[in-house]
Amino acid sequence: MKIHFPSKEKMCKSKRSFRTLLEAERVAAKFEQRSYHCPICFTYHNTSKENWQDEFLYEEDVFKVLGELVRLYEKSVEKLTNDNLVLKNQISNIKSKNGHLEGSIKSLQNTIDQLRGAKK
Ligand SMILES: [Zn+2]
Repeated sequence: MKIHFPSKEKMCKSKRSFRTLLEAERVAAKFEQRSYHCPICFTYHNTSKENWQDEFLYEEDVFKVLGELVRLYEKSVEKLTNDNLVLKNQISNIKSKNGHLEGSIKSLQNTIDQLRGAKK
């Protein structure tokens, strides 16, 4: 199954440009083509397509596109999982630093209490 996507302005470069419609039509007549005014480069091009707008589309296989989307999705899930792991590590580092700090504060508090007791 094929679907149509807008092409990325690839067609102007690959097509002959004419400055006037008359010039374009003269050449088009030889090849049973149609002339049209290009909305991108504003010159005239010729096409053998029924509808000149089709020049701005390209066909892509649906399953190929779906496959690419799935791959993109899997990549972002993988990245999120990795980011999650990094965050988890950072959180556990902070927690352990917090634990050390709590210990230091407790021992400081003990020292202060002892000093207070000695004063009395
Ligand atoms: Zn053009």
